[in-house]
Amino acid sequence: MSVPREGGCSCGEVRYRLLSDPLFTHCCHCLSCQRQTGSAFVVNILIEADRVERLAGNPQPVDVPRDDGSVQRVFRCPTCQIAVFSQYTRPDVRFVRAGTLDEPRAVEPDVHIFTRSKVDWVTLPSSTPAFEVYYDQQALWPTESLERLAALETK
Ligand SMILES: [Zn+2]
Ligand SMILES: [Zn+2]
Repeated sequence: MSVPREGGCSCGEVRYRLLSDPLFTHCCHCLSCQRQTGSAFVVNILIEADRVERLAGNPQPVDVPRDDGSVQRVFRCPTCQIAVFSQYTRPDVRFVRAGTLDEPRAVEPDVHIFTRSKVDWVTLPSSTPAFEVYYDQQALWPTESLERLAALETK
């Protein structure tokens, strides 16, 4: 990783730094992500929770219902309420919202998911795998990322 990836909320209270490259980066076009962001999709950086260094502030968890009946824990700045990262099923993996990076261009999606609800005016690059719903992690993730995930499970 050449450039340090730092980010934060809009008011400046919450600041974080990613200590390594992402495990994988999702661009999600599902209805829940569209509603949460008020936009067409979300870009999530999947990374080990202990590789998200908190530089300032204390993001607060808010449990948000998802359309599939599950709950997504969204961590927000207590003051400006910007969502900086989420937790889905695993507490040891964060989904960092790439739009909160100082340089959102520092990452690119490795996969597009839930394209069944993608808005028609977004055209996806043919070079990036895209799936109507979800994908097979074992098939798509680089070996190094799978090893990092396995290392988490033995912690
Ligand atoms: Zn804030
Ligand atoms: Zn989604």
